[in-house]
Amino acid sequence: MQVLVINAGSSSVKYYLYRMPQAEVLAKGSVERVGEKVSKLAHSFGDRTWTSDVSAPGVEEAVHFVLDTLVRDDVGVLDDIAEIGAVGHRVVHGGEEFTGSVVIDDRVIASIEKYADLAPLHNPPNLAGIRAAGARLPGVTQVACFDTAFHTTIPQVAYLYGLPYQLYEKYRIRRYGFHGISHRYVARRAAALMGRGKYEVNVITCHLGNGCSITAVKEGRSVDTSMGFTPLEGVPMGTRSGDLDPAILFYLADKGYSPQSLKTLCNKESGLLGISGLSNDIRNLLQLSAEGRERATLALDVFCYRIRKYIGAYAAVLEPLDAIAFTGGIGENAAQLREQICRNMSQLGVHLDRPANETAIGAEAQISTPASPVKVFVIPTNEQLGIAKDTCDLATRERPAVAIDNRG
Ligand code: ADP
Repeated sequence: MQVLVINAGSSSVKYYLYRMPQAEVLAKGSVERVGEKVSKLAHSFGDRTWTSDVSAPGVEEAVHFVLDTLVRDDVGVLDDIAEIGAVGHRVVHGGEEFTGSVVIDDRVIASIEKYADLAPLHNPPNLAGIRAAGARLPGVTQVACFDTAFHTTIPQVAYLYGLPYQLYEKYRIRRYGFHGISHRYVARRAAALMGRGKYEVNVITCHLGNGCSITAVKEGRSVDTSMGFTPLEGVPMGTRSGDLDPAILFYLADKGYSPQSLKTLCNKESGLLGISGLSNDIRNLLQLSAEGRERATLALDVFCYRIRKYIGAYAAVLEPLDAIAFTGGIGENAAQLREQICRNMSQLGVHLDRPANETAIGAEAQISTPASPVKVFVIPTNEQLGIAKDTCDLATRERPAVAIDNRG
C-alpha cells in the first residue's frame, strides 16, 4: 500500500510517500515559504531532486501541488493519485482526548478544531492539510497522529501547574508536551540498541531542533516533558524563550508591552536569537563563536546549561537512569554541544566517549564509553515513519475507525 505522510505547518508542507509495510520511501519533499509570493517546491525521488517555484498562498494549494507532482509525467512516481491507499497527518495538539493515532472522521476533525484554541499556530494548518487531501482523495482513509499522544501518560503530579485547580477544570490548563512522535520513536530505538524490551528502559530523550524538548521516559512511557501547555516552555530554543519567571511578563506589561508584543517577544525574538542578537541557527552560532563572537558563545552556553539542568531533574525522576538519547537537527549533528551538555556528568553515571561523539554525525551511534553506567546515544528521529506505520496499520485493519494507543 502507498501511504502519503503530510506534515502541514503554517509556512511549509512536508511530505513522504511510502510503500508500506516495506517502509520504502518512493518520494519525499516539501513546499517551503507557503503564504509568501513565491513558494519553493523541492521533490526528491530515487537519487533525483526536482525544484520548482510555485504559487501556494495557503496549505491547500501546497497539498494540491504535492499531489500533482506525484503524478507528473517527468518527475512523478505514481500513474494516478488513486494509488495512494491512505494518508497520515501529523497533528500537533490532541488535548487530553487523543491517546493515540486515529482514523479521521467528522468527530475527529471537530476535536482538532477545538484544540486549535490551544495550538493556534499549528492545528489550523494541520486541519487545512487534512481537508485538502480529503478533497482530492475522497474515500481514502486519513489518519491523525498527535504530537501530544505519547505524553498522555504523564501523571497529574507532573502535568499540573501551581495554579488554582479550577483553571485546570475550567480551561484544561496543564502540561501537554509535544514532539511525542519523535520522543516515542527515539525511546523505542534506545531500548532496541540496548537489547531490551520497549517497556524495560528509563531514558531521557532530548529532541533538539528548531523547537527543543526533553522527555523523561520511564519503562517506555512518558512521565514528564519540558514543553508544557504550549511548545514555549522548557529549554531556550532558536527563537523561543523557554522557561521564565511569569512575573517578567507582568513587569514588561507595566512598561507598556501589549499581550501581542509579548507573544512575539517570547516566540520569535528570544532564545538563541535573543541572547546572541545574531542568529537562531546553531550552525551559524558555532561558526560565530569559533570566530570569537562572545554573544554567540553566551547563547550556546545558556542553551547547554539549561539542557543539563533538565537532564539532572529527569535523572532524579527516573532513578535508575539507563540512557540519554539525542535527536533533532542539533542533537543529531552538533557533537560539540553534546559534549558540552554531558561534560562532568560522572555523578549521574554519564561517561561520554569523546572520539565516538565526534564522529557520530547524523547517524545512529552509542557515544558513551562501554563502561558508562548510563548509555548515551545519537538516534536520528524518524517521525514520518512512525506516522506511516500507524496509518498503514489503521487503514488495513478489518474494523476501521479505531485508534492506536501511542502511550506506551
Ligand atoms: P525542525 O525542528 O524545524 O525540524 P531541525 O531538527 O532540522 O529543525 O533542527 C534545526 C537546527 O539543527 C538548527 O539550529 C540547525 O542549525 C541545527 N543543525 C542542523 N545541522 C547541523 C549541523 N550539521 N551541525 C550543527 N547544527 C545543525
